[in-house]
Amino acid sequence: MKQPMRAMSEPSDRSAHAGTPFFDVRMRGFRDRAEVADVIALLAARLRPLPGEEIELQEASGRVLAEDVSSPVAVPSFDRAAMDGYAVRGQETFGAGPYNPLEFLVVGEALPGRPFSQPVGPGQAVRIMTGAPLPEGSDAVVQAEVAQEQAGKLRISDAVPPGRHIGRRGEDIEVGTAVLHAGRILRPQDLGVLASIGTARLRVIRRPTVALLITGDELLPCGSRPEGYQIVDSNSVMLESLVRRDGGIPLSTLLIPDSRPAVEAALVSAQADVLLISGGSSVGKEDHAPRLLAELGELSVHGMALRPASPTGIGFLQNRPAFLLPGNPVSCLCAYDFFAGPALRRLGGRSMDWPYRKHSLPLARKIASAVGRVDYVRVLIRDGQIEPLATSGASILSSTTRADGFVLVPGDSEGYAAGQEVQVFLYD
Ligand code: AMP
Ligand code: MG
Repeated sequence: MKQPMRAMSEPSDRSAHAGTPFFDVRMRGFRDRAEVADVIALLAARLRPLPGEEIELQEASGRVLAEDVSSPVAVPSFDRAAMDGYAVRGQETFGAGPYNPLEFLVVGEALPGRPFSQPVGPGQAVRIMTGAPLPEGSDAVVQAEVAQEQAGKLRISDAVPPGRHIGRRGEDIEVGTAVLHAGRILRPQDLGVLASIGTARLRVIRRPTVALLITGDELLPCGSRPEGYQIVDSNSVMLESLVRRDGGIPLSTLLIPDSRPAVEAALVSAQADVLLISGGSSVGKEDHAPRLLAELGELSVHGMALRPASPTGIGFLQNRPAFLLPGNPVSCLCAYDFFAGPALRRLGGRSMDWPYRKHSLPLARKIASAVGRVDYVRVLIRDGQIEPLATSGASILSSTTRADGFVLVPGDSEGYAAGQEVQVFLYD
């Protein structure tokens, strides 16, 4: 297997000792490039979901449940009326009809949270509202529509068998039922169910924290106007938003000059579960991050069989994954989505799969690609067909805003012919 791949498959504790055998690629170029699928497999093998933490139920929407939850109680915990009407002994209504109303004595009232406390005797009825506990002795509810109450007397013009219009104890959730399983991304209605079984706090997987190290002497902080030969850092705001999308917490964002000591200091002091380093990831003279990562920890992969984003590196620093993302914004987005995103989701207990909706549509024009690399092709969808965007260099970030999505051409393919049906991933 290729040299960088060998480093990849070694045990994770090597980063504790540091010092990956290092071929200095600066001004020489990559010797070989790792296959995308192998790198994803490496990340899946080396990363495990973070431990759980206990949080308030109110904070749990969208979080990943860390353990199975089963109900300690029955919901509801009592038999209750499912209709507004009158609680009776169902058997006593048999024979009632429009031409044969039967008469009952109304002896009281049951409201939600305010039960009628005596048993219901023969010939008696209790006025009852939806959700109120069914009084002892009664076993059915006559709807208000088929009952007429006047001066304490009730005339019922329809029969209701025992059990009619009643919600039984445990009909929603029985005691001991497994209501939700570990790994569940909690929906709003899940929180409702958890509340109904008496949950106040619960264990969810901790959200991975992320340190963003944005390198480049030419960069102005986000929010500035581009000036002179300087450009505005667009990667940090994009990455922060991707991190949030994937359930992570962007902890800190630093702009760092292209100097070895500055990059080293930032790497060493970063306090997060995941490090994202933007820029300086390639084979240029000022590309310090790959070498530093190899020296301080482990550079597992450097150079991907992927376009754009081939100058991507992945490694570990004190057992925390570090992603060296190319500075070119499209490459940065692509490298994040291919590698950092899945890693982050894995740590957070989520699926490593792409978070984009997929569609199959025919191609309006052909897509050419070289065998041996995966291509990330920005495309438009027009009249039910996929159109590859013409201008789509790695530095043209607006290609990703004009595009509706992207098509991936696998490594073993020379591309797709016009008219061929292919899968498109939609950005929205
Ligand atoms: P690098 O990967 O550092 O060699 O950068 C490649 C290209 O991306 C250069 O043209 C940089 O100016 C540009 N670039 C680097 N970092 C950023 C950033 N944070 N935001 C926007 N462009 C960047
Ligand atoms: Mg740079």
